[in-house]
Parts: sequence; C-alpha cells; structure tokens
Amino acid sequence: AKKMKNTNWVYYQEAMSTEWNRRLRLEKDLLQAMQRDELMPYFQPEIDTVIQGVLSMELLARWEHPELGFISPLEFIPIAEDSGQLKELMQGLIRKAVQELVSWQEKVQYQGMLSVNVTSQLISEDSFCENLLRLKEEFHLADGILELELTENMQLFETPLIQQKLRILQENGIRIAIDDFGSGYSNFSYISDFPIDKIKIDKSFTDYIEVSKRGEAVLDSLILLSLRLGIDLVAEGVETEAQVSYLQKRECMFMQGYYFARPMPAREAGDYLESLFKN
Ligand code: C2E
Ligand code: CA
Ligand code: CA
Ligand code: CA
Repeated sequence: AKKMKNTNWVYYQEAMSTEWNRRLRLEKDLLQAMQRDELMPYFQPEIDTVIQGVLSMELLARWEHPELGFISPLEFIPIAEDSGQLKELMQGLIRKAVQELVSWQEKVQYQGMLSVNVTSQLISEDSFCENLLRLKEEFHLADGILELELTENMQLFETPLIQQKLRILQENGIRIAIDDFGSGYSNFSYISDFPIDKIKIDKSFTDYIEVSKRGEAVLDSLILLSLRLGIDLVAEGVETEAQVSYLQKRECMFMQGYYFARPMPAREAGDYLESLFKN
C-alpha cells in the first residue's frame, strides 16, 4: 500500500509540473504571439430571429500557437491577466475587430453591434476605457455599436471605480451587457442598480429546455424578468430546433449558438454577413 501511495505521488508531481511548465511556456510565448500576429479575432453572431438578421457580432479571442495549436481563451486569457499582458492583448484584438466591423459596415451595410468580452481587471486598468473611447472616435463608430460583455461574477464589477468607469462608457455610447446571466449569485442585485443594456442567459439554462421542468421554470422566469425590465435578452448556446421554438414562444427573440453559426475567422464572418445581406 505504501509503495502504491508513493507511485501516485510521483504521478501527481509529474502532472503538476507538466501543467506548470505549460503555463510558464504560454506566459513566455504570449509576448511573441502578440508581435507575430498569432492572436486572432473570431466572431460569432447573435441572431435576431424576428428579422432574421444579426444583432451583434461577438469577438472571441483565438491563439494559434505555432507548435501547440489552437489554445482556448479560457486558458490564455487568465495567463495574460496574471502576467500583466491582458490590456495590450485585448487592445490589439479590439482594434483588429473594429477594422473588420468598419469593413462590414462599408461592404454589406452591416448595422449590428460588436460585442467584446471584458474582465473587471481590464476595466480597471489605467487608460483602457479612455483608449476604447478614442478608438470609437477614430473609426467614427456611432453610439450603441460597441458593447462590453462583463464576463465574470458581477461582484467583481461592484467597486466604485469600475462603476464610475462603466457609467462614463455608457454615457459615451458604449453598451454594457452581463454575460452568463444566472450562473453567478450577484447578477440580480446588479441589474436593479445599474442600467444594463443586455443580458446573455447562460448556456446551462438553454440546456434545460426539454430536459428539466424545474430548469425550464427558472429559464422562463429569467426571460420574464428581462422583458419586464426592458433589457435586451440573448440566449446562449442554442443548438437545436426545439430550443429555438421554445425560446420564440416565450418571446426571447435573440439567440446565439451552433444552431445558427459557430465562431468564425474574420474573412468567413464577412462572407457570412454578405450572404445574409444578399438574401
Ligand atoms: P462566453 O463569452 O460565454 O462565450 C461563449 C463560448 O461558448 C465560446 O467559447 C463559444 O465558442 C461557445 N459557444 C457558442 N455557441 C455554442 C453552442 O451552441 N454550443 C457550445 N457547446 N458552445 C458554444 P470560446 O470562444 O472558447 O470562449 C470561451 C470563453 O472565453 C468565453 O465565454 C469568454 O468568457 C472567454 N473569452 C473569449 N474571448 C475573450 C476575450 O477576447 N476576452 C476575454 N476577457 N474573454 C474572452
Ligand atoms: Ca460572451
Ligand atoms: Ca463566460
Ligand atoms: Ca457563457
């Protein structure tokens, strides 16, 4: 038994150090990645099922590592954050995404929004908000086109500094959305205090459709709440026809998910918008 334990410990240590080594490697490679253009904006549409058009294109970060292949934002965003590289990384990506947005506006009269995922740390970073407003000016973006999706537990956004910054952004035509709504604890108090423009209902609730009566009841109540508050509502992670018709019956008309489109690189996203425009 003793021998067994020791062996497990060795495996455990090896696993830990492999994980740690990967982390150190990614942290180190991130700097080069930014310079070598390995970080790319992908885009996934949020669909307005009433007009069969696009409400917004959401920017989803992708890193194509030359040796390790595609790395998930769930892995590299926290690393960038911990190593102080997040602002530079995100500003670079947002600029690229806005350039695409402008080309869609010109080529196919795209009138939807561009949504960007942000963490509380990024909002509190020096000059991030100022730079975002400057970018909006530089590209002559109208009010209500750029939108920030607050992706973490809402408690993290409840500091006076962040609240003030979000207010200034909103007063200057940047929309504020809550991501993964319903999955955290402090969402509810937040929407009664802050004039949120949009909420995205977490995929876990979409997954309850036709699976759990109790889950459906919670989903229904989230939909009613947002309708009552007059906040735009997007259901995330929609994958099936049954989910689409369930949501439509309850007047949740904005949806996002593989059923409609997967996240796409810039060129493909442009082609996608063009094909909608021609129809
Ligand atoms: P999120 O903002 O909740 O984005 C939704 C995630 O679900 C995306 O994964 C998307 O590709 C995936 N998804 C969309 N539709 C479906 C569907 O129908 N079924 C399933 N199974 N999945 C679907 P992705 O792109 O890997 O992003 C993961 C998370 O990483 C995002 O979750 C977001 O929190 C974060 N993230 C992505 N890009 C950025 C970024 O630029 N900045 C920051 N701070 N976070 C980002
Ligand atoms: Ca999001
Ligand atoms: Ca999220
Ligand atoms: Ca989500």
